[in-house]
Amino acid sequence: MTDPLLSVENLRTYFYTPYGVVKAVNGVNFELESGKALGIIGESGSGKTVTGLSIMRLIFPPGKILKGSRIMFQGEDLLLKPENEMRSVRGNRISMVFQDPMTSLNPVFTIGEQLTRVIQTHQDLTKKEAIEKAITLLKEVGISDPEKRIKNYPHQFSGGMRQRVLIAMAISCHPNLIIADEPTTALDVTTQAKIIELLKDLQRKIGTSLIFITHDLALISEIVSEVIVMYCGMILERGEVDELLSEPLHPYTEGLLHSLPDVNIKGDLQPIEGTIPSPINPPSGCKFHPRCKHATVECREDVPEFKKIRSDRYVSCILY
Ligand code: SF4
Repeated sequence: MTDPLLSVENLRTYFYTPYGVVKAVNGVNFELESGKALGIIGESGSGKTVTGLSIMRLIFPPGKILKGSRIMFQGEDLLLKPENEMRSVRGNRISMVFQDPMTSLNPVFTIGEQLTRVIQTHQDLTKKEAIEKAITLLKEVGISDPEKRIKNYPHQFSGGMRQRVLIAMAISCHPNLIIADEPTTALDVTTQAKIIELLKDLQRKIGTSLIFITHDLALISEIVSEVIVMYCGMILERGEVDELLSEPLHPYTEGLLHSLPDVNIKGDLQPIEGTIPSPINPPSGCKFHPRCKHATVECREDVPEFKKIRSDRYVSCILY
């Protein structure tokens, strides 16, 4: 068996705030094989974005990735790399696409200036060659008339078009891994579908691996083959996407599915009762117990083991 492209081992990322320690990611483990797409799902504050930023090593004080965490990427521990080497990993080997395309683009520079700057940072190309490459990339992500559009500013693009530009930047160096963090949240449903289609297409064409972070279960089946479900900085369930969606094991995953407006899922919408707990003072035992209808005394006291139930299916719940 070949080594996975990415192996996240016991990842713990904490934020030391004046109000207490936020254990944003607390002992996360997962692997991703080359060319595969993995979804990370959970409500806001579950730790999914911090997991993505930790892989990119974009955690700044008061945040810290704790000793004992390992992020093995192509056989190297990214957490042991000096910052100058990490700068070349970002963009070249791992790219990230963020949720809000407007804040990720600089409003005072044209799309062409921004795209060519990214290209020239990572590749030894002349200005002319970088412009040609930028035009090709814009074409690849479905922007028509790229020779003209390259001279436009971000405000002259729609939200969906701006997200396409960010995807063009992310793929400009043919990275081995793209981390897309809620890339369609700020977009309308039709544009969402187009961006998902584009990401799928690019993933197929350039063979890159993908981590797709979202709070939207309905989207995830479109693009990934495997999903992990996060809550309070921990993974509660992991499995193959169709199986996990059709037969959720963890009560939290089940709750997420029932709160989803989907014509394929029968019954009334039932939002999960309660709210995600305070990250500074999380509940004892199973972090989901204050919201779980199956909770017992044991759930309040002990953190359930993350158990393998069957091939490629893991869950952290005493019911299994
Ligand atoms: Fe519910 Fe207990 Fe399972 Fe947690 S461990 S999800 S509280 S049954």
